[in-house]
Amino acid sequence: MGEKNCGVCQKKVAEFTCSACSVPLCAECVREVAIENPGQRVLGVLTSPLKSGMKKQKVCEKCMKEVDFVE
Ligand SMILES: [Zn+2]
Ligand SMILES: [Zn+2]
Repeated sequence: MGEKNCGVCQKKVAEFTCSACSVPLCAECVREVAIENPGQRVLGVLTSPLKSGMKKQKVCEKCMKEVDFVE
């Protein structure tokens, strides 16, 4: 499907996607958020049920600030 540029810096090729707003993210702009609430769904995002306990999500910097991941 071709390469997309990072939606944050617009310079690098996107390797990830923000799980909250779906913006393409390069390796430098991606932020990883660990969520420790196994029973709770954040923003209705469906993630793999393989691991319970700690979940990790890739998000952009903006969503990392805006979304309250704590409880
Ligand atoms: Zn970037
Ligand atoms: Zn985002």
